[in-house]
Amino acid sequence: MAERKPEWLKIKLTTNENFNEIKSMMRDKTLHTVCEEARCPNIYECWAVHRTATFMILGDICTRACRFCAVKTGLPTELDWAEPERVAEAAEKMGLKHCVVTSVARDDLKDGGATIFAETIKAIRKRLPFCSVEVLIPDFMGSYDALKIVMDAKPDILNHNIETVRRLSDRVRARAKYERTLELLKRAKEMQPGIPTKSSIMIGVGETWDEIIETMDDLRANHVDIVTIGQYLQPTKKHISIEKYWHPDDFAKLREEGLERGFSHVESGPLVRSSYHAHEQVKSAQRN
Ligand code: SF4
Ligand code: SF4
Repeated sequence: MAERKPEWLKIKLTTNENFNEIKSMMRDKTLHTVCEEARCPNIYECWAVHRTATFMILGDICTRACRFCAVKTGLPTELDWAEPERVAEAAEKMGLKHCVVTSVARDDLKDGGATIFAETIKAIRKRLPFCSVEVLIPDFMGSYDALKIVMDAKPDILNHNIETVRRLSDRVRARAKYERTLELLKRAKEMQPGIPTKSSIMIGVGETWDEIIETMDDLRANHVDIVTIGQYLQPTKKHISIEKYWHPDDFAKLREEGLERGFSHVESGPLVRSSYHAHEQVKSAQRN
Protein backbone atom coordinates (compact mmCIF):
# COMPACT_ATOMS: atom_id res chain seq x y z
CA MET A 1 0.00 0.00 0.00
CA ALA A 2 1.28 3.49 -0.85
CA GLU A 3 2.23 6.22 1.62
CA ARG A 4 0.00 9.30 2.24
CA LYS A 5 -1.24 11.37 -0.70
CA PRO A 6 1.66 13.50 -1.89
CA GLU A 7 1.54 17.31 -2.25
CA TRP A 8 1.44 17.24 -6.06
CA LEU A 9 -1.97 15.55 -5.98
CA LYS A 10 -3.56 18.09 -3.65
CA ILE A 11 -5.13 20.67 -5.89
CA LYS A 12 -7.47 23.53 -5.19
CA LEU A 13 -10.60 23.61 -7.30
CA THR A 14 -10.99 26.88 -9.15
CA THR A 15 -14.32 28.20 -10.29
CA ASN A 16 -15.84 31.33 -11.81
CA GLU A 17 -19.18 32.58 -13.08
CA ASN A 18 -18.76 31.13 -16.53
CA PHE A 19 -18.05 27.71 -15.06
CA ASN A 20 -20.99 27.88 -12.65
CA GLU A 21 -23.29 28.75 -15.52
CA ILE A 22 -22.20 25.70 -17.53
CA LYS A 23 -22.60 23.56 -14.43
CA SER A 24 -26.13 24.68 -13.69
CA MET A 25 -27.07 24.01 -17.30
CA MET A 26 -25.97 20.40 -16.86
CA ARG A 27 -28.33 20.05 -13.88
CA ASP A 28 -31.34 20.46 -16.19
CA LYS A 29 -30.46 17.52 -18.38
CA THR A 30 -30.76 13.81 -17.92
CA LEU A 31 -27.15 13.55 -18.93
CA HIS A 32 -24.10 12.13 -17.25
CA THR A 33 -20.62 13.56 -17.54
CA VAL A 34 -17.55 11.68 -16.38
CA CYS A 35 -16.17 15.08 -15.40
CA GLU A 36 -18.78 15.45 -12.64
CA GLU A 37 -19.35 11.83 -11.69
CA ALA A 38 -15.67 11.01 -11.31
CA ARG A 39 -15.19 14.38 -9.55
CA CYS A 40 -12.40 15.04 -12.00
CA PRO A 41 -9.96 17.64 -10.67
CA ASN A 42 -9.56 19.14 -14.15
CA ILE A 43 -13.20 20.11 -14.55
CA TYR A 44 -12.76 23.87 -14.38
CA GLU A 45 -9.86 23.91 -16.83
CA CYS A 46 -11.63 21.56 -19.24
CA TRP A 47 -15.11 23.06 -19.19
CA ALA A 48 -14.44 26.76 -18.81
CA VAL A 49 -11.01 27.17 -20.42
CA HIS A 50 -10.60 24.49 -23.08
CA ARG A 51 -14.28 23.82 -23.70
CA THR A 52 -13.90 20.07 -23.46
CA ALA A 53 -16.23 17.66 -21.68
CA THR A 54 -16.71 13.91 -21.47
CA PHE A 55 -20.26 12.60 -21.73
CA MET A 56 -21.17 9.13 -20.59
CA ILE A 57 -23.88 7.61 -22.76
CA LEU A 58 -25.91 4.38 -22.54
CA GLY A 59 -26.82 4.93 -18.91
CA ASP A 60 -24.84 5.03 -15.71
CA ILE A 61 -25.02 1.35 -14.76
CA CYS A 62 -22.31 -0.95 -16.11
CA THR A 63 -22.50 -4.68 -16.81
CA ARG A 64 -18.91 -5.02 -15.55
CA ALA A 65 -17.18 -4.22 -12.27
CA CYS A 66 -13.56 -3.17 -12.79
CA ARG A 67 -11.70 -2.92 -9.50
CA PHE A 68 -10.60 0.68 -10.02
CA CYS A 69 -13.86 2.14 -11.28
CA ALA A 70 -16.57 3.95 -9.32
CA VAL A 71 -19.38 3.37 -11.83
CA LYS A 72 -22.29 1.31 -10.44
CA THR A 73 -22.61 -2.31 -11.59
CA GLY A 74 -25.94 -3.93 -12.34
CA LEU A 75 -28.62 -4.39 -14.95
CA PRO A 76 -28.57 -1.37 -17.24
CA THR A 77 -31.63 0.66 -18.13
CA GLU A 78 -33.50 0.62 -21.43
CA LEU A 79 -31.83 2.12 -24.49
CA ASP A 80 -32.63 5.77 -24.90
CA TRP A 81 -32.68 6.67 -28.59
CA ALA A 82 -33.12 10.36 -27.81
CA GLU A 83 -29.81 10.44 -25.97
CA PRO A 84 -27.59 11.31 -28.99
CA GLU A 85 -29.64 14.43 -29.63
CA ARG A 86 -29.59 15.46 -25.97
CA VAL A 87 -25.79 15.10 -25.82
CA ALA A 88 -25.45 17.19 -28.98
CA GLU A 89 -27.77 19.85 -27.59
CA ALA A 90 -25.78 20.05 -24.35
CA ALA A 91 -22.49 20.18 -26.25
CA GLU A 92 -23.85 23.06 -28.28
CA LYS A 93 -25.04 24.95 -25.20
CA MET A 94 -21.69 24.42 -23.50
CA GLY A 95 -19.95 25.78 -26.59
CA LEU A 96 -17.63 22.76 -26.77
CA LYS A 97 -14.65 22.65 -29.06
CA HIS A 98 -13.79 19.05 -28.27
CA CYS A 99 -16.34 16.52 -27.13
CA VAL A 100 -15.49 13.12 -25.69
CA VAL A 101 -18.18 10.47 -25.73
CA THR A 102 -17.78 7.36 -23.64
CA SER A 103 -20.05 4.72 -22.15
CA VAL A 104 -20.39 1.99 -19.62
CA ALA A 105 -19.84 -1.54 -20.98
CA ARG A 106 -23.19 -2.76 -22.32
CA ASP A 107 -22.49 -6.47 -22.66
CA ASP A 108 -26.29 -6.98 -22.60
CA LEU A 109 -26.68 -5.39 -26.05
CA LYS A 110 -25.97 -7.20 -29.32
CA ASP A 111 -23.95 -4.30 -30.73
CA GLY A 112 -22.58 -3.26 -27.32
CA GLY A 113 -24.12 0.19 -27.86
CA ALA A 114 -22.12 0.92 -31.04
CA THR A 115 -25.15 2.28 -32.91
CA ILE A 116 -25.84 4.88 -30.21
CA PHE A 117 -22.15 5.91 -30.34
CA ALA A 118 -22.44 6.38 -34.11
CA GLU A 119 -25.68 8.35 -33.76
CA THR A 120 -24.11 10.59 -31.12
CA ILE A 121 -21.14 11.39 -33.36
CA LYS A 122 -23.53 12.32 -36.18
CA ALA A 123 -25.77 14.42 -33.93
CA ILE A 124 -22.82 16.45 -32.57
CA ARG A 125 -21.42 16.95 -36.08
CA LYS A 126 -24.76 18.29 -37.25
CA ARG A 127 -25.00 20.91 -34.50
CA LEU A 128 -21.31 21.68 -34.06
CA PRO A 129 -19.45 21.09 -37.32
CA PHE A 130 -16.21 22.52 -35.88
CA CYS A 131 -16.23 20.54 -32.66
CA SER A 132 -13.93 17.52 -32.75
CA VAL A 133 -15.46 14.30 -31.49
CA GLU A 134 -13.50 11.65 -29.66
CA VAL A 135 -15.07 8.34 -28.70
CA LEU A 136 -13.75 6.32 -25.80
CA ILE A 137 -15.30 2.95 -26.47
CA PRO A 138 -15.66 -0.29 -24.50
CA ASP A 139 -14.27 -3.45 -26.13
CA PHE A 140 -17.68 -4.57 -27.51
CA MET A 141 -16.66 -8.03 -26.33
CA GLY A 142 -14.30 -8.16 -29.31
CA SER A 143 -17.03 -7.59 -31.95
CA TYR A 144 -15.45 -6.00 -35.03
CA ASP A 145 -18.91 -5.52 -36.56
CA ALA A 146 -19.70 -3.23 -33.63
CA LEU A 147 -16.36 -1.47 -34.01
CA LYS A 148 -17.07 -0.92 -37.70
CA ILE A 149 -20.37 0.82 -36.91
CA VAL A 150 -18.42 3.37 -34.84
CA MET A 151 -15.53 3.74 -37.31
CA ASP A 152 -17.96 4.31 -40.21
CA ALA A 153 -19.31 7.36 -38.35
CA LYS A 154 -15.74 8.75 -38.53
CA PRO A 155 -14.88 10.08 -35.08
CA ASP A 156 -11.89 12.45 -34.91
CA ILE A 157 -10.19 10.13 -32.41
CA LEU A 158 -10.87 6.49 -31.57
CA ASN A 159 -9.91 5.88 -27.98
CA HIS A 160 -9.90 2.55 -26.16
CA ASN A 161 -8.09 2.20 -22.87
CA ILE A 162 -5.59 -0.53 -22.09
CA GLU A 163 -5.72 0.74 -18.47
CA THR A 164 -2.87 -1.32 -17.04
CA VAL A 165 0.09 -3.55 -17.86
CA ARG A 166 -0.27 -7.11 -19.18
CA ARG A 167 0.50 -8.87 -15.86
CA LEU A 168 -2.15 -6.94 -13.90
CA SER A 169 -4.84 -6.77 -16.56
CA ASP A 170 -6.99 -9.71 -15.39
CA ARG A 171 -6.81 -8.56 -11.78
CA VAL A 172 -7.64 -4.90 -12.40
CA ARG A 173 -10.14 -5.02 -15.27
CA ALA A 174 -13.33 -7.06 -15.29
CA ARG A 175 -13.80 -9.31 -18.33
CA ALA A 176 -11.53 -7.17 -20.51
CA LYS A 177 -8.43 -8.74 -22.03
CA TYR A 178 -5.07 -7.11 -22.68
CA GLU A 179 -4.71 -8.81 -26.09
CA ARG A 180 -8.30 -8.03 -27.08
CA THR A 181 -7.67 -4.34 -26.43
CA LEU A 182 -4.56 -4.36 -28.62
CA GLU A 183 -6.39 -6.21 -31.39
CA LEU A 184 -9.32 -3.78 -31.27
CA LEU A 185 -6.96 -0.80 -31.59
CA LYS A 186 -5.17 -2.48 -34.50
CA ARG A 187 -8.45 -3.23 -36.31
CA ALA A 188 -9.70 0.33 -35.81
CA LYS A 189 -6.58 1.59 -37.59
CA GLU A 190 -7.00 -0.95 -40.40
CA MET A 191 -10.62 0.11 -40.90
CA GLN A 192 -9.88 3.86 -41.02
CA PRO A 193 -6.12 4.50 -41.32
CA GLY A 194 -6.67 8.29 -41.26
CA ILE A 195 -8.33 8.32 -37.82
CA PRO A 196 -5.90 8.61 -34.89
CA THR A 197 -6.14 5.90 -32.26
CA LYS A 198 -5.50 6.50 -28.59
CA SER A 199 -5.17 4.59 -25.32
CA SER A 200 -4.58 5.31 -21.64
CA ILE A 201 -2.48 3.72 -18.96
CA MET A 202 -3.37 4.23 -15.30
CA ILE A 203 -0.33 3.71 -13.08
CA GLY A 204 0.06 3.14 -9.36
CA VAL A 205 -1.60 -0.28 -9.07
CA GLY A 206 1.60 -2.32 -8.69
CA GLU A 207 3.23 -2.19 -12.12
CA THR A 208 6.98 -1.80 -12.65
CA TRP A 209 8.70 0.80 -14.80
CA ASP A 210 9.68 -1.84 -17.39
CA GLU A 211 6.10 -3.04 -17.60
CA ILE A 212 4.87 0.48 -18.37
CA ILE A 213 7.47 0.75 -21.13
CA GLU A 214 6.43 -2.67 -22.47
CA THR A 215 2.80 -1.50 -22.56
CA MET A 216 3.80 1.56 -24.58
CA ASP A 217 5.74 -0.71 -26.96
CA ASP A 218 2.70 -2.97 -27.35
CA LEU A 219 0.50 0.04 -28.16
CA ARG A 220 2.97 1.33 -30.74
CA ALA A 221 3.30 -2.15 -32.28
CA ASN A 222 -0.45 -1.89 -32.91
CA HIS A 223 -0.13 1.58 -34.46
CA VAL A 224 -1.64 3.56 -31.60
CA ASP A 225 -0.94 7.29 -32.14
CA ILE A 226 -1.74 8.91 -28.78
CA VAL A 227 -1.13 7.72 -25.23
CA THR A 228 -2.09 9.26 -21.91
CA ILE A 229 -0.60 8.20 -18.58
CA GLY A 230 -2.01 9.20 -15.19
CA GLN A 231 -1.88 8.29 -11.51
CA TYR A 232 -4.57 5.90 -10.25
CA LEU A 233 -6.57 7.39 -7.37
CA GLN A 234 -8.69 5.04 -5.31
CA PRO A 235 -12.38 6.13 -5.53
CA THR A 236 -13.35 4.38 -2.24
CA LYS A 237 -11.71 2.00 0.25
CA LYS A 238 -13.46 -0.92 -1.47
CA HIS A 239 -11.57 -0.32 -4.71
CA ILE A 240 -8.14 -1.68 -5.55
CA SER A 241 -5.52 -0.01 -3.38
CA ILE A 242 -2.86 2.42 -4.55
CA GLU A 243 0.50 0.67 -4.51
CA LYS A 244 2.59 3.66 -5.44
CA TYR A 245 2.39 7.38 -6.09
CA TRP A 246 4.64 7.85 -9.11
CA HIS A 247 6.62 11.09 -8.92
CA PRO A 248 6.02 13.93 -11.43
CA ASP A 249 9.61 13.38 -12.65
CA ASP A 250 8.70 9.78 -13.56
CA PHE A 251 5.73 11.05 -15.55
CA ALA A 252 8.01 13.50 -17.37
CA LYS A 253 10.42 10.65 -18.21
CA LEU A 254 7.56 8.50 -19.45
CA ARG A 255 6.50 11.32 -21.73
CA GLU A 256 10.02 11.37 -23.23
CA GLU A 257 10.00 7.58 -23.60
CA GLY A 258 6.65 7.76 -25.35
CA LEU A 259 7.72 10.45 -27.79
CA GLU A 260 10.90 8.49 -28.59
CA ARG A 261 8.67 5.54 -29.45
CA GLY A 262 6.85 7.58 -32.07
CA PHE A 263 3.53 8.51 -30.44
CA SER A 264 2.26 11.73 -32.02
CA HIS A 265 1.13 12.97 -28.61
CA VAL A 266 1.90 11.85 -25.07
CA GLU A 267 0.05 13.34 -22.12
CA SER A 268 1.70 12.14 -18.92
CA GLY A 269 1.25 13.54 -15.43
CA PRO A 270 -0.18 12.65 -12.02
CA LEU A 271 -3.56 14.26 -12.73
CA VAL A 272 -3.76 13.34 -16.39
CA ARG A 273 -6.99 11.64 -17.36
CA SER A 274 -7.84 10.09 -20.70
CA SER A 275 -9.55 13.24 -21.95
CA TYR A 276 -7.15 15.77 -20.41
CA HIS A 277 -5.89 18.25 -23.03
CA ALA A 278 -7.66 16.12 -25.62
CA HIS A 279 -8.21 19.15 -27.87
CA GLU A 280 -4.43 19.40 -28.34
CA GLN A 281 -4.17 15.73 -29.22
CA VAL A 282 -6.37 16.16 -32.28
CA LYS A 283 -4.03 18.88 -33.53
CA SER A 284 -0.86 16.83 -32.95
CA ALA A 285 -2.34 13.81 -34.65
CA GLN A 286 -3.36 15.92 -37.65
CA ARG A 287 0.19 17.27 -37.94
CA ASN A 288 1.58 13.72 -38.23
FE1 SF4 B 1 -13.86 15.86 -17.95
FE2 SF4 B 1 -11.79 14.49 -18.93
FE3 SF4 B 1 -11.55 17.08 -18.44
FE4 SF4 B 1 -11.72 15.39 -16.43
S1 SF4 B 1 -10.04 15.49 -17.92
S2 SF4 B 1 -12.84 17.31 -16.61
S3 SF4 B 1 -13.14 13.86 -17.25
S4 SF4 B 1 -12.91 16.16 -19.95
FE1 SF4 C 1 -16.00 1.12 -15.17
FE2 SF4 C 1 -15.71 0.80 -17.80
FE3 SF4 C 1 -15.05 -1.19 -16.11
FE4 SF4 C 1 -17.61 -0.53 -16.50
S1 SF4 C 1 -16.18 -1.39 -18.04
S2 SF4 C 1 -16.64 -0.94 -14.54
S3 SF4 C 1 -17.47 1.70 -16.74
S4 SF4 C 1 -14.05 0.85 -16.30
